[in-house]
Amino acid sequence: MDTIAQNLKFVQKRINKACEVAGRDPKEVKLLLATKTVEPTRIQQAFSLGYTLIAENKVQELKEKYEALKPTPHTNHFIGHLQTNKIKDILKCDVSCIESLDRYDLAEKLHQKLSQVGREMDVFIQVNTSGEESKFGVAPEQALELVKQVAQFPTLHIKGLMTIGLFSAEEEKVRKCFQLLKNIQEQIIALNLPNVEPKELSMGMSGDLEIAIAEGATIVRVGTAIFGERIYPDSYYWNEKQA
Ligand SMILES: *Cc1c(COP(=O)(O)O)cnc(C)c1O
Repeated sequence: MDTIAQNLKFVQKRINKACEVAGRDPKEVKLLLATKTVEPTRIQQAFSLGYTLIAENKVQELKEKYEALKPTPHTNHFIGHLQTNKIKDILKCDVSCIESLDRYDLAEKLHQKLSQVGREMDVFIQVNTSGEESKFGVAPEQALELVKQVAQFPTLHIKGLMTIGLFSAEEEKVRKCFQLLKNIQEQIIALNLPNVEPKELSMGMSGDLEIAIAEGATIVRVGTAIFGERIYPDSYYWNEKQA
């Protein structure tokens, strides 16, 4: 068995085990492949094993891989910082969900563009639960306000929330991030807004997916544990100045 197949098997085992511990059905937790820096041929290997939910962080990479991946049916999410001038490109690449909606001006521009072309889009609100300046996402205390604003755009459907937890060896601090996202989800559900159904909680990565599943994740986003270490540091993808 090749490495990707082995890694997928291992990650799936971790998910299943975490679900068992949490008393959850593993079918409730989707494995999303974070494919930044990964070559299309390697992504195709994962497809052939039945893992077809993928996400890129950069529009440029999404475009570069689009043609190569197109022949195999799959689902594209977007999980990176999205600049408004790249919206056009996102719409050309069959992205079905933008998980990283984190500000009003992006929602407004997305709505304008979608209206023009007669389309709609699922979105998750990205929340900065760790409070680190280096990470994107709306501040937790502003999340509800953003949800209310986004809900007014009929082309945008809020289907969930996304966060990148704190990178820390202190499990309880990481857990707090995920609990906060869950808590915000509950507050949003209580608002009972039309067009807002935040069922999905996209949280947990290679290092902390067990904690995220224990706290209610429905999507875990995994890169390194499947495709190996990346050559770029994550700040290359997450830092405002370089995005
Ligand atoms: C890279 C990335 C992941 C996956 O991280 P790994 O630690 O490689 O599993 C998840 N979410 C986002 C937003 C990412 O950029």
